[in-house]
Order: sequence, then C-alpha cells, then structure tokens
Amino acid sequence: MIAHHPGDDLLLSYAAGSLGESWSLAIAAHLALCPVCRDAVAAAEHIGGVLLDETPAETMTAGSLEDLLTRLDEAPVETFEPVAPETAVLPEPLRGYIGGDLDNIPWKSSGGGTYQHLLSTNDLAQARLLLIPEGRPVPEHGHGGRELTLVLSGSFHDQTGSFGRGDMEDADEDLIHTPIAGRGEDCICLAVTDAPLKFTGFVPRIVQRFIKI
Ligand SMILES: [Zn+2]
Repeated sequence: MIAHHPGDDLLLSYAAGSLGESWSLAIAAHLALCPVCRDAVAAAEHIGGVLLDETPAETMTAGSLEDLLTRLDEAPVETFEPVAPETAVLPEPLRGYIGGDLDNIPWKSSGGGTYQHLLSTNDLAQARLLLIPEGRPVPEHGHGGRELTLVLSGSFHDQTGSFGRGDMEDADEDLIHTPIAGRGEDCICLAVTDAPLKFTGFVPRIVQRFIKI
C-alpha cells in the first residue's frame, strides 16, 4: 500500500505537460507504481481535454458552464492501462535512462557509505538514484528548494514517517531530516532536487563540494 503521494500541484502540472524533465520523470515513475495517482492524472487530463474542446471562439453563455459540467459527468474517464506486475526494480520510465534495470548502474560513493548515480536530464533540477545500505542514515540535511524522493526498493524512515516502494516524499525547504534506511534490504530511491542539499554537519559539507549534491 502506497501511503505517500506527490502534491496535487505536481500531478496537475504533469497532466498539463508543464513539468521539467527531472520532475516529470519522478512523477511518471511514481505513477507506474501508484494506481491512485494514475487515476487522478487521467481525470485531470480528461478535464483538460474537455475544456480545450469546449473553448470555442463564442462567448460563454449562462448555460455553457452547466453544459460543460454535464459533459464532464457523461464522458467516460480514461484510465491508464493496468501495469503488469513489475519484476524489474526500476519502473519503465526510469529504465530508459539507465539502459536496463539495476545491474548496469555505475554507482559512485556519495559519502557516509551511501552511493549515487546522477541522471542526465535537460532541466536545471538534478535527478539521481540513491543507494543507502540497510540500516544506514543519510547525513542530516535541509533543502535549498523542493526535493522529491521515490522509494524503488527497501525503505527509509525519517521524522515525517515511513516510506516503502512506491512512496514519494515531497519535501520543501522547511524540512531538515535524517532519512535512515530500513533493515533487511538496501534502500534505492530516485531523488529530484531543485537546489543543492544543505548538509548541517561539517564533514558532509566538505564532501558535498566534491560530489555535487
Ligand atoms: Zn500516488
């Protein structure tokens, strides 16, 4: 059961096609795992489509809005094709960036026993895969902006709750946290940040200068 979802603003922007590549990738990867958000996005796309069809050159009359609402009620909402049970760890949208599943990833150390792999996207945000060995913490950090973290395998927990496969943490600059990977399985996440993380410890800050996070 997925308990943590991205903010509505992200789902609506995704449906409208107005997200940058990194954010769009994170949302698409969450949608591949989350039927609830798939339905929300399908509904938003549907409403957007009807509005486009219904925006003629003529002025809206008193009855137009009512007509529109009736049409929204009557028109069937398209839902996504059900996703086949995943045997791969990486959802399909991510495999295109990696050229396969987890086996081929050239992990690089990101300090403190954690690893990362930066993804190449065409926007200013940074998308990366993170590998946090089971039971290990990521050094406490705040955020210069928004950070989305999607769990792909294993789990982590922090002050805000517990996150398993498919869960997405949507953090802003007010959150300072120390995520800790759950026991039993290494935690692999997709993370997207729109500003460098702000580590609070001295050593992590030094490391940060060298590994670009
Ligand atoms: Zn969701």
